[in-house]
Amino acid sequence: MLTKRRYLIEILTAAALIAAPFVLPLLGFAPNTVNRILVWGLFGLGFDILFGFTGLLSFGQSAFYGTGGFVAAYLLTRAGFPNVILALIIGMIAAAATGYLIGLIALRRTGIYFAMITVAIAEVFFFVEFNPLSDFTGGENGLPGVPTPSIDLGFAALHFTTGWSLYQFIAFCYFLGVVIALRIVRSPVGAIFSAIRDNPLRATAVGHNIHGYKLTAFVIAAAYAGFAGGLLGVLQAFMPPDAFMFDTSGQLVMQTAIGGRGTLFGPLVGAAVWLSLQDFLQAALGLGAAWKLVLGVVFVLLVCFLRRGIIGGLVDLYGLLTGQRTAKEPEESEPQPEIGSEIAAAPMPAPHRPDDRPSGPILQAKGLTKRYGGLLANSDIDFTVNHGELRGIIGPNGAGKSTFFKMLTCEVHPTSGSITFEGRDITGMNVTDVCQLGLTKSYQVNQLFAGLTVRENLVIAALSGLRGKFKLDLFRSIESIPGLAERVEHTLALVNLTRRTDTPVAELAYGEKRRLEIGLALATSPSLLLLDEPLAGMSPRERVETVKLLKSISQGRTMIIIDHDMDALFELAERVTVLQEGRVLVEGTPEEIKNNSTVQEAYLGGVHGVLAA
Ligand code: ADP
Repeated sequence: MLTKRRYLIEILTAAALIAAPFVLPLLGFAPNTVNRILVWGLFGLGFDILFGFTGLLSFGQSAFYGTGGFVAAYLLTRAGFPNVILALIIGMIAAAATGYLIGLIALRRTGIYFAMITVAIAEVFFFVEFNPLSDFTGGENGLPGVPTPSIDLGFAALHFTTGWSLYQFIAFCYFLGVVIALRIVRSPVGAIFSAIRDNPLRATAVGHNIHGYKLTAFVIAAAYAGFAGGLLGVLQAFMPPDAFMFDTSGQLVMQTAIGGRGTLFGPLVGAAVWLSLQDFLQAALGLGAAWKLVLGVVFVLLVCFLRRGIIGGLVDLYGLLTGQRTAKEPEESEPQPEIGSEIAAAPMPAPHRPDDRPSGPILQAKGLTKRYGGLLANSDIDFTVNHGELRGIIGPNGAGKSTFFKMLTCEVHPTSGSITFEGRDITGMNVTDVCQLGLTKSYQVNQLFAGLTVRENLVIAALSGLRGKFKLDLFRSIESIPGLAERVEHTLALVNLTRRTDTPVAELAYGEKRRLEIGLALATSPSLLLLDEPLAGMSPRERVETVKLLKSISQGRTMIIIDHDMDALFELAERVTVLQEGRVLVEGTPEEIKNNSTVQEAYLGGVHGVLAA
């Protein structure tokens, strides 16, 4: 939704912010409450980029809120710094720099461990503010006397003092924050953030340096927090010590969950609910501290019944009313065109045409061995594949085929042996760098970006080839990347998913998901493509279709395919390697393999003639 209607969201936000001082008083909102909601909303914009878009749940945002807030407040109250806006910006930079350093440590872990590290960081910052740094932060007294901003336009001076006057300044900051956040989530970096949230393993495998992008999201969130922290001091004319408290982090997480994560406006809506409930329950109903009990019940109900928060619920309702999101369509619901029929219309050529194709080995493995404890998954494998070849690999379950592929793509490192790809020793490299060099695989078990559409999935894979593994083009729109649309269209046609372009992955039929799995690998434009059991779990009809698809994508490409379907593999491959108990048993043309008695012995326990039948 965010990417389709360019500028509509910005215009609506501006209109709402302009209308607010006229409308909200009629609903009983005091200007101070609205200003507090906006400060939380601004704080939450960065947090939503981190949590909602990148999937990193941090409980440590108070550390950056406090850092930005106290740096700005210290400059303005104790250091005699005259310019409020500049002080806010310096506070923001200090918070971002702190976020960078903290991120370097916290992002070494994922999931619950990451969250726990951020909790610890918040506690450490709170302690530091009260003890070693109390001379600068005022300790439990905080820093009083933070001034409000004024802007000298030369011919006139604008003073933003309190109430609706200060609202103008805070609303402008919030609007700017929204514009920047929207640019970020619509940029290639924003797309990769969503990929990391949905499937970090695959985001890495299609060639993105996800550590760099996670750190970017962390720094962005810290910068927003720092600026919002500074604004809190301005708003209250006092920088309170509780900005650093863990409660602040917890409240932000809850407000984002209430409003809706991954929506940018969720934290604002969550803060509006939180603060108005607080005002209403405490003041109007006189519940005192018990208001949190009611809030707790509201929170549980909202999280149980509106799993995507208030905004997510409204978006779903809108979709339901307008019929935009339909239930899962079965694959058979519309006739699919013949495999390959759309390829003619696709503009992008295959990586190598027969006449310009390089010759000789593209991949060589020597003495490749992988030991898991006492188990030899692969043992002393020598293996060579030439440019343009389509190689098949067969072997019984447990023969070591998947381990072999994982070593070739550098997902796991060999215990001994070496791998050379296009003349370069890639042993010990990581999966991202190897993908950037042009070697990638499709997975035996689908590894898709489940929350995104078919097109968005392919965009993420195609971006790595076009931008490299890390680039900070935060303010660039995805559409402006040369060659991206063509590459995505071409891949859609290759895997026969053009008609499902805007379908969310969750609504695809299994066969379509398998094709998208292959499409993800293809969209990185590999010079060597590895396919791990592309036919796994398919119905006979889907198998026939997919074999056709594999034939068509093999034109001008070098591919290695593992599969149990020997008929299909013998039909596709020029040469076949048979693995058994982690070793190469034999290698040859499909005809040679079919008639090889050792293979029949090993593979089928001596039932001669079955392979050849
Ligand atoms: P295949 O793909 O041919 O079925 P695999 O490569 O998956 O075979 O596995 C080969 C052997 O290595 C099996 O005995 C498997 O249990 C073992 N193996 C694979 N991965 C691991 C791992 N991460 N840890 C321990 N053993 C493993």
